[in-house]
Amino acid sequence: MDALTCIKKLGYVGVLDFATVDEDGAPQVRNISAIHYEGTDIYFLTARGKSFARQLKRDGRVQILGYTKFKETIRVSGKAEEVAEEEQEKWRNVLYEEQPYLENVYPGETKKIDTMFVLRDYTIEYFCLSTRPITREYFTIGNAVLKPKGYVISDTCIGCGTCVTKCPQNVITEGMPYVIDQNHCLQCGNCYENCPVQAVERL
Ligand code: SF4
Ligand code: SF4
Repeated sequence: MDALTCIKKLGYVGVLDFATVDEDGAPQVRNISAIHYEGTDIYFLTARGKSFARQLKRDGRVQILGYTKFKETIRVSGKAEEVAEEEQEKWRNVLYEEQPYLENVYPGETKKIDTMFVLRDYTIEYFCLSTRPITREYFTIGNAVLKPKGYVISDTCIGCGTCVTKCPQNVITEGMPYVIDQNHCLQCGNCYENCPVQAVERL
């Protein structure tokens, strides 16, 4: 897998879930299909009056989720910015041309209530459940910084092998310490819960 293929797959999925947080820190998620992909830049549109637009302007952090028919989850996390005023019309027109149904929603001059946002710096998490073992990969676009997650085994490992017997994907290899293959780990925590000396650490 690679980042551009992930982006292409998101385009095929079409309608994606966009999550933000509101003023009270409560999660807010909605489906968005008004999306245009320009290389790795992800442009999307909403109306200025919607709480989605207000949340993006206040905070910018957004998480986008797509799920393919091949059991692949593609998660994009980053900080969106509103497109500069002088560029708004250009990108709005590109999107309306690609997705003519939008003219039905905001006909004529009413489309001026729309505002375009763009995501340029973000991380991608690719997670596929149709392989054995499962596949997990991360990609970084622009200046985004990847925040590690999951589990690692520390030097306090005594090599008892318990974690190997508990791993549903059989992705822990023997050694001192034992090692988790991060590209195939479910991040389920079974090794963490069963290590007798707490050598498995949660990132
Ligand atoms: S269960 Fe803990 S101590 Fe035993 S091999 Fe796994 S990480 Fe090491
Ligand atoms: S978190 Fe789950 S899948 Fe990953 S190594 Fe531990 S037991 Fe295996």
